Amino acid sequence: MKIEENNMSKQKENKLTFFTDWKYAPSPEATDHIRLQNQYELFINGKFVKPNSGKYFETINPATEKTIARIADANEKDVDTAVKAARQAYNKTWRKMPAKERAKYIFRIARLMQERARELAVIESMNGGKPIRESRDIDVPLAANHFFYYAGWADKLEYAFPNRSPKPLGVAGQIIPWNFPLLMAAWKIAPALATGNTVVLKPAETTPLTALKLAEIIQESGLPDGVVNIVTGFGATGAAIVNHKDVDKIAFTGSTNVGKWIQKATAGTDKKLTLELGGKAANIIFEDAPINQAVEGIVNGIFFNQGHVCCAGSRLFIQESVADEVIQKLKDRLETLIVGDPLDKNTDIGAINSKAQLQKINDYLKIGKADEAEMYQSNCEIPKKGFFVRPTLFLNTAQSHRISQEEIFGPVLAIQTFRTIEEVIEKANNIPYGLSAGVWTDKGSRIFNLTSKLRAGVVWANTYNKFDPTSPFGGYKESGFGREGGLHGLMPYLKF
Ligand code: ADP
Repeated sequence: MKIEENNMSKQKENKLTFFTDWKYAPSPEATDHIRLQNQYELFINGKFVKPNSGKYFETINPATEKTIARIADANEKDVDTAVKAARQAYNKTWRKMPAKERAKYIFRIARLMQERARELAVIESMNGGKPIRESRDIDVPLAANHFFYYAGWADKLEYAFPNRSPKPLGVAGQIIPWNFPLLMAAWKIAPALATGNTVVLKPAETTPLTALKLAEIIQESGLPDGVVNIVTGFGATGAAIVNHKDVDKIAFTGSTNVGKWIQKATAGTDKKLTLELGGKAANIIFEDAPINQAVEGIVNGIFFNQGHVCCAGSRLFIQESVADEVIQKLKDRLETLIVGDPLDKNTDIGAINSKAQLQKINDYLKIGKADEAEMYQSNCEIPKKGFFVRPTLFLNTAQSHRISQEEIFGPVLAIQTFRTIEEVIEKANNIPYGLSAGVWTDKGSRIFNLTSKLRAGVVWANTYNKFDPTSPFGGYKESGFGREGGLHGLMPYLKF
């Protein structure tokens, strides 16, 4: 007995040494190959033009808090010029062009994105704070794949919707958030072009750079002037797009509050609308799950990418019989996560996108503690400069806690346990959101049972956060409506 105890404490010691003592050598991605200007103008009618407003704002690197460039701040007049350019391009060139010619341009954009993938990935990480591993291996390739995929549909719409004579809508106004700046631009622009629409897109104010790089690529591709226009600015610029009378469709990804406002603003108009809003996904682990694989999936679902994912698995439900094991493994894994320089290839958790977002996350940590949930944070070092937060678990949370109900958009996981499948379905569904969910079990029938009962647009089984241009994505309830990706992603840009 004594020997066993000794061995165990030795093992424990070794484990702790293992977790705390080693460090990877820094391995930062090179930045000398990227081309960035000090100032960016608006991309309207195929050219970079100064804003009518005469105003600019600074975009920073959230990991260093240093300014990267000055960005034009578009006002209503600028938006109007962009919409007029899009309308003219729609009437004069794009709607008249044979679909197979349209496809060639979309395909060319995809190829150019691939050629400049490294530059795009580095800029994405510099401007958004996400680890280079994510932007290099996920965001940029997926963005290019969306263009490849929708290029394929452009001349096959008659087959996608047989006997329904699909027609484009006209000018699409598209507003995107800061968590996947280039990927969201691709999700929105590629299907709009494939279906014959023209575009006015507004990136988020904190992450405009890769959208502006995409504008350069679009210019290089020879896409006819005015087919894609990119206007930068804040909420007011987005609102000017939403309120513009000559916009036929609004596609919005962002917060539920702004989504609700847009829904009100477009009510009573003939603008078509799709909204992809917040989420509070449940990741559910049953006792028969492959536990190590599930723990890795949970970590991927909420901690990689700083939890800056609307479909992040921010709630964890563990079946009671394996709760201790899963929580211990999660705590151990948390200690190995590296928080720091987004450009370092070893980094798991990069910078929080903005000071305001960091403040919001820290506020939620206080709210969780005030609600008496048990907080556990990793002991890792975090950089002194820049916006960083340690990965955090909240144990023993209740369904009524705000940290279990509200979207935090940070590396914070609220954990509950459950006994029966009915109980977990009830708890998982009992929130205002319904974007995504995850289920971990060895049992196929249980997966089918859950996927039909969870009110979530996407349910991953024994994996998490996997995306593909061919599969649709979108929400239930306050997570929005309409689907992006796949065949479904064409529909919001067509009338029949
Ligand atoms: P997040 O909380 O993810 O920043 P927001 O909904 O505030 O989400 O922002 C998402 C996008 O919507 C950004 O491009 C932002 O500038 C834009 N936006 C913010 N307010 C409005 C508004 N009232 N109308 C249209 N777009 C807006």
